[in-house]
Amino acid sequence: MLPPLVDPTKHVVQKHVGQQQREGRPLFRWACPGPILSYRNMAGIHWRDFHVGGSYDGGFHFPGGYCMPLLGAHMSIAGGYYKAVEAAAGFEMDCVQIFTKNNNQWRAKNLTDDDIARFRESLAETGVKSPCAHDSYLINLASPKEELWERSIDAFIVELDRAEALGLRGVVMHPGSFVESSEEEGLARIIEGIDRSLEATSGDAVEIWLETTAGQGTNLGHRFEHLAHIIDGVQDNSRLGVCIDTCHIFAAGYAIQERKDYLATFREFDRMIGIDRIRAFHLNDSKKEFGSRVDRHEHIGEGYLGIEPFRHVINDRRFARLPMYLETPKGERNGQKLDAMNIATLRSLVDKASFGKKGSAAKPKTTKTQGKRQSKS
Ligand SMILES: [Zn+2]
Ligand SMILES: [Zn+2]
Repeated sequence: MLPPLVDPTKHVVQKHVGQQQREGRPLFRWACPGPILSYRNMAGIHWRDFHVGGSYDGGFHFPGGYCMPLLGAHMSIAGGYYKAVEAAAGFEMDCVQIFTKNNNQWRAKNLTDDDIARFRESLAETGVKSPCAHDSYLINLASPKEELWERSIDAFIVELDRAEALGLRGVVMHPGSFVESSEEEGLARIIEGIDRSLEATSGDAVEIWLETTAGQGTNLGHRFEHLAHIIDGVQDNSRLGVCIDTCHIFAAGYAIQERKDYLATFREFDRMIGIDRIRAFHLNDSKKEFGSRVDRHEHIGEGYLGIEPFRHVINDRRFARLPMYLETPKGERNGQKLDAMNIATLRSLVDKASFGKKGSAAKPKTTKTQGKRQSKS
């Protein structure tokens, strides 16, 4: 169901409900009539509207009231969990992904009530939505080694507990690597590991989002069949979702560049798993070729994917309410933060004119871009 039609341009300020400083820039928060909150920067330029309450999770609105996917990125929790939220808000992002602990260590400092409170407050204050976590790189639920497997399950349960405490929507996880066993045995291990994790956290709201992988080495999850097998095999899969990583599926051999290929890939996903399992996207371009099965992220439009696949995803109405997180390299270029650059690139792809028209997906203005973009600066 679409939200009621609203015209954000008519949302004149009703009530000033708060003010804060964000990276040196004052930000005002205004309440509007109806279930809409609007944020305006000091120049009064509207930059975000979103619904609060109800079943609708928010996103960008254009005159006519059509919603857009939530665009954000993985952000660092250095200095506090709330720092990731504030950083995301500083880039005018709609959503954020974090690690809930050091992702290269088993041990984790306990979450304090203060950590949790400040994190939740910063979400409420900034309007950043759909916070999620990515699990530790050490966890391998497919491991044939008993000790590592048990340790992985324990650590994964801790990740779910922390995510639940912080109020995260989901924990993105790489299904695992079968190492010296087999695909079949690896998948069976994953199913058992997930069953145990779900049981240990029963009653929790946080979901497990299986990530599509590039298929490096013995990594599982690079075929939709793997994910389907896991989802079918788990005893209660009501808390299981999927996170599609554009770089990974491309590297794994699923074509998404040409529109017809993009549609065919998601038709196959729908047939194998069901499109409604998709909870989130990781938007990354790929440093490596199609089918390389190598996982290397590149800035949006600067890798082998090029710009078109992102136009397809962002303007696909089936995904209009989903959070989409960048995991592109950090840093600066010509004085501009790379996160800002990538978010701006994504936002420039929104086809405002056709968004929200009838049909399962808005028709992008196609250009047949294949392969790496010519000029790179
Ligand atoms: Zn990813
Ligand atoms: Zn990756």
